[in-house]
Amino acid sequence: MITKIKTMLLAVMPLAGMAQEKAAPEVFTDKVGVYEVVLLLENQGQGNTSILIGATPEMISQTIPNGNYPNAVNAFLVKTPKGNILIDTGFGRNLKKNLAEAGITPEQINTLIITHAHGDHIGGMLTAEGQRAFPNAQLVMSNTEKDYWVDTKQQESMIRAYDAYKNNVQLIQPVEPENATGDGIFHIDAPGHTPGHIAVLLRSKGEQMLICGDLTHAMAIQIPYPQVSVTYDTDPALAAKTRKHILKFVSDRNIPIAGMHIAYPGMGNVEEIGTESYSFTPMSLPSGR
Ligand SMILES: [Zn+2]
Repeated sequence: MITKIKTMLLAVMPLAGMAQEKAAPEVFTDKVGVYEVVLLLENQGQGNTSILIGATPEMISQTIPNGNYPNAVNAFLVKTPKGNILIDTGFGRNLKKNLAEAGITPEQINTLIITHAHGDHIGGMLTAEGQRAFPNAQLVMSNTEKDYWVDTKQQESMIRAYDAYKNNVQLIQPVEPENATGDGIFHIDAPGHTPGHIAVLLRSKGEQMLICGDLTHAMAIQIPYPQVSVTYDTDPALAAKTRKHILKFVSDRNIPIAGMHIAYPGMGNVEEIGTESYSFTPMSLPSGR
């Protein structure tokens, strides 16, 4: 596996409570067989304990003693021999600039996979006046997710986004990770954060990576204690069950994960350190970082 920094840019983090200004790289690339996975950093900052569900004072004092932990908002580009796949769109703040850094125009995105329909994942799907930001992309999302936000919950921003892409949509039925066999790109069932939340498994030439969407929001505590959920989870108990299942799956098989809220470089390796308890090692950066 080869890792390299593609660029380093000055980044300003404008989120309330996450405001800081520092030099931060915004694009990071890793190879998975024939695939090239590019981190597209939207925002990096600090989270706090107010969003945690099921975290005891002991867990917090052990894992995040000062009450804050690093987090981020990421999207990922997957360059494949058959075209370019964008997985989530962040808020859409730095997305086009980051894609340009990766050498890709919006017109060159062939597939747009949405892990789930929260605003920090679909924000970059549209441009002004309802026109889609990726005119040649097929929108791929789970049938359950579409049903929930468009038909049941009637979330305005998702309805507008879905409407913009509606003549080029693929609604998928995700699979259990154990049932994804052979090489390819698989949509993995990962419910709980939202009803139709999915992860994306890449497998090529003996290499694998799981782009796990919002499997975690607070890595520092949710990796050692996967039973801790967050207030953003539609079903916190189901989110915890999914987290335990998927962390066991990837650690048993040494599959690196990449996540939409994992701090830079947004990807790394999970190791089992006890019963339903794991550690995370970020992917190594070139020396000097
Ligand atoms: Zn999210």
